[in-house]
Amino acid sequence: ATVGAVRERAPGERRVALVPEAVTLLRRAGLDVLIEAGAGSGAWFTDADYTAVGASVVSPDELYAHADAVLCVGPPDEETATALRSGQTLIGLLEPMRHPALVRDLTERGIRTVSLDLLPRTLSRAQSMDALTSQANVAGYKAALLAADSYDRFLPMLTTAAGTMRPAQVLVLGAGVAGLQAIATARRLGAVVTAYDVRPESRGEVESLGARFLDTARPPDGGSGAGQGGYARELTDEEQRAQREALDTHIARSDIVITTAQVPGRKPPLLVTAAVIARMMPGSVVVDLAASDLGGNVEGTEPDKTEVLDNGVTLIGAGRLPSAMATAASTAYARNLVAVLRHLVRDGEIVLDPADEITAALMGANPWKGGEPS
Ligand code: NAD
Repeated sequence: ATVGAVRERAPGERRVALVPEAVTLLRRAGLDVLIEAGAGSGAWFTDADYTAVGASVVSPDELYAHADAVLCVGPPDEETATALRSGQTLIGLLEPMRHPALVRDLTERGIRTVSLDLLPRTLSRAQSMDALTSQANVAGYKAALLAADSYDRFLPMLTTAAGTMRPAQVLVLGAGVAGLQAIATARRLGAVVTAYDVRPESRGEVESLGARFLDTARPPDGGSGAGQGGYARELTDEEQRAQREALDTHIARSDIVITTAQVPGRKPPLLVTAAVIARMMPGSVVVDLAASDLGGNVEGTEPDKTEVLDNGVTLIGAGRLPSAMATAASTAYARNLVAVLRHLVRDGEIVLDPADEITAALMGANPWKGGEPS
């Protein structure tokens, strides 16, 4: 079979679905590989890098004409979606929960979709295919660096001839994949890190990274905020109020706050209000990884927008952080894609077997991603 990686068309998107090392692996698995001209340039891979490992660099028309499976990172734009033809398979982070119409229209036109974001997260044999994890890892790392870059003091405790500088106090809210990587990165930079998550089982992971786990803000009555599939559930209004009250003192005292809390299929929970930001010290930095058009974890953040408030607090609404580290993000994503394709390929052909648990999930047999179907 032939697979073809398209150039991403979303504004500001620099990632690419396949990097040269992935081409080598796919060819070894018996696949022919096409790359749209210029597809890798945002991640610093040239067309020549791809031809050197046996891919054919082609125009979009040639790609759509010959590829059995079209590989992408984010959901396709309208032009790409229109160019796909019946019998083709589209593989990528298609966000079917956010754009249900896209997948529905493609399916009606006889195009099969494989959405990496529908992968069951807790199946250990699917871990190598987990693109949400690989991309969240990049986002968490970059969020810590962005915070450090905007913070006008040192993160580590430094003892110099001029005396001792105290280490920065970093608070990470939401200790999933991105949060844990933000914790690890802030720790490597020498900060003192505290973290919090509604899922009580995240305590061990937080502590193993050398951070302190805040449990004062657990849902009342010692209840758990864990939902299904390893994800959090949405807290009730009452629980959210209690949580914010318990967190406020810690937020106000922190030099850097990084928020990463998400509940699948829901608006991100509001954890940091304008009232508590007003209590933070001038020079403090807040990075909201959950910033989205639906709102984020921090009141007043917008994706891709940095604002210095009148009280000297910098609010950073994260945009596409994985794209901001396009080479690492693409390399990891391409490894996930190779694992998915190896799972699907039998005797050189792509076989979508609905009886296979992983394949069925990727095809949307179970479009449930924690919480309730929405
Ligand atoms: P996510 O992006 O959906 O959410 C990020 C974090 O926010 C989660 O840890 C969640 O518990 C937390 N959160 C939600 N509401 C909150 C609130 N009100 N206050 C504080 N925190 C809140 O999560 P994710 O990073 O995609 O990870 C989801 C789950 O999948 C985790 O349990 C993770 O460990 C698990 N996971 C497992 C594997 C594996 O075993 N192969 C791989 C990746 C992820």
